[in-house]
Amino acid sequence: MSRVSHGSFTFVGHYRCLDFVNTALVAARSRTDPIPDFEGLVTWLHDAGLIDAVERKVALARWGKGREAQQTYAGALLFRMRLAEIAERLASRRQVPKSGLDAINEQLHSRVTRAKLTRGKNGFVERFETDLTEPRQLIVPLAQSAADLLCNGDLSLVKRCANPSCSLYFYDTSKNHTRRWCSMETCGSRMKMAAYYQRRRLRREGR
Ligand SMILES: [Zn+2]
Repeated sequence: MSRVSHGSFTFVGHYRCLDFVNTALVAARSRTDPIPDFEGLVTWLHDAGLIDAVERKVALARWGKGREAQQTYAGALLFRMRLAEIAERLASRRQVPKSGLDAINEQLHSRVTRAKLTRGKNGFVERFETDLTEPRQLIVPLAQSAADLLCNGDLSLVKRCANPSCSLYFYDTSKNHTRRWCSMETCGSRMKMAAYYQRRRLRREGR
């Protein structure tokens, strides 16, 4: 999967939990967090396909202002840090810390989920329906994404972009599992171009 942009966000991770971690890397790099506040969090969750338009509207109308929104936002940033630790361990082939698993479980327990079987384009799909009664339940789908990655994903395919100034996380879905860049259109072509000029310079200098 290459870089996909919905709205103003970029999704290259394949798993939404990795995309969420990537927003922290972008924040650290550009000093502007793509998720700057509660409203930004709700917008990101919507653009990531984790909540629908109705849920977004309800969340903003019900909790958009006030202390609950601030607490939820702070909780989401803490959870992002836990997920970042997990992603870092996975990408360097090390053991996932217990603190990360505890953080995921804490989120999973805060929302009642019902599995529902539906007919999809390519066969049957199991979907999860949930009640949204508290703002902190908004980030549960991210915990579900992390649980899905840990249970069903091939953990050796969690990688970081080989462009050192990028380093975004992604799940390598390429056929031969040889993907090195977050996306071919940006980092891939930039790094290939740099290698090309490097080779040309060396040739010209007769090395
Ligand atoms: Zn990249």
